[in-house]
Amino acid sequence: MKVPHIKIKPPGPKAQAIIEQDRRYTAPAYGRVYPLVVKEGRGMVIEDVDGNLYLDFTAGIAVTATGHSHPQVVQAIEEQARKFLHFCGSDFYYEPMARLAEKLCQLAPGSSPKKVFLTNSGTEAIEAAIKLARYSTERQHIIAFLGSFHGRTLGSLSLTASRSLYRSRFGPLIPSIHHVPYGLRGIEYLETSFFTQLVSPDQVAAIFVEPIQGEGGYIVPPSEFLGLLRDICQRHGILLVADEIQTGFGRTGKMFACEHWDVEPDILCVAKGIASGLPLGAMIAKSDISTWTRGTHGSTFGGNPVACAAALATLALLEDGLMKNAAEVGGYLKEKLGHLKSSHPPISDVRGLGLMIGVELAKRDAARTPDAELRNQVIQKVFEKGLLLLGCGESTIRFCPPLIVSKSEADAAVEIFASTLKELAK
Ligand code: PLP
Repeated sequence: MKVPHIKIKPPGPKAQAIIEQDRRYTAPAYGRVYPLVVKEGRGMVIEDVDGNLYLDFTAGIAVTATGHSHPQVVQAIEEQARKFLHFCGSDFYYEPMARLAEKLCQLAPGSSPKKVFLTNSGTEAIEAAIKLARYSTERQHIIAFLGSFHGRTLGSLSLTASRSLYRSRFGPLIPSIHHVPYGLRGIEYLETSFFTQLVSPDQVAAIFVEPIQGEGGYIVPPSEFLGLLRDICQRHGILLVADEIQTGFGRTGKMFACEHWDVEPDILCVAKGIASGLPLGAMIAKSDISTWTRGTHGSTFGGNPVACAAALATLALLEDGLMKNAAEVGGYLKEKLGHLKSSHPPISDVRGLGLMIGVELAKRDAARTPDAELRNQVIQKVFEKGLLLLGCGESTIRFCPPLIVSKSEADAAVEIFASTLKELAK
């Protein structure tokens, strides 16, 4: 059947019943973007409980890199599930964990030997990095960037600065965290005032950075930014921590976004796309930094064997062509979206790398004020037409499909997006 295919306006009756049940019993903290109730996922397609078929350009928020339930990933999960489901990798040994750690050390940017700590999520990878950075440098201060998103547990939340809503009423957050502007203004601020007037660089343990800001608006920094940060860190013995939780595993057309600028971070945090949807994250640190001793850190579920098996299958698929596809189709999609600019005045910018593409919408005033209302309307409307998209930043729409996406699926998404924008921007 042709996709998208909407046979009943969502949410249909089955979806409505589940949403009602969900609202009664789940925490109201969940954001919930639109009333999609998933029944099944296959490749690029999501079927809802009422039989509507959607083209997925969200990948479960940049997670299902290999598409939904890729047969090779499912097979790896099944095979491992039949052997054993759990045995706590923090206290014992099993092969999938050792194999995955070896593979991640090989794949991480740069030639320095590395060590891996496995987690269940992105935020835990960041927590591990905060702890290791403080432990190994014996310094306390940490620098992060305005607009960044690093997670929602209290340590990572202290670094997150993409929306004040995420932080308000949760304080006091952890002390000695400082935020500076993202991009070259931040570099200048660090060099000219921060280190001389606020915190001496020899007190700074780490700088945490997203090579491309995700949640903050799919912001690609100037090409010299990451290299300049690397240089600052090198000069002052500060650790450079790259948060590649969203940018990693082929999403930007290379295994890790740092590779676009030829930068080797001291610590690399990953999660999301690593295991095609099973909960897994990792903190990959240079061996000479990974100085913590036995028992210093651990996790009951981190490095779960089934998740490790899914990750190994995912990585094989990425290396086997999906990463290349992300670069190719990503370039194609970005060009097509870029072409819309002249005929669709609300589009103020199209940016990104690989399959991490942001389209920013703005009012038609001289200042090009961000148009969050229109952005939200577009996302709702395309959903009703069978295209799944998400927002980020103030008024940006993100296109982050699974890395299996084809050019014809990209054409279909652009067509729905463009016609919807035309209708709504009248
Ligand atoms: N860091 C980045 C860049 C992210 O995009 C996210 C999640 O969106 C996180 C950290 C937190 O990951 P998780 O939701 O798995 O804890």
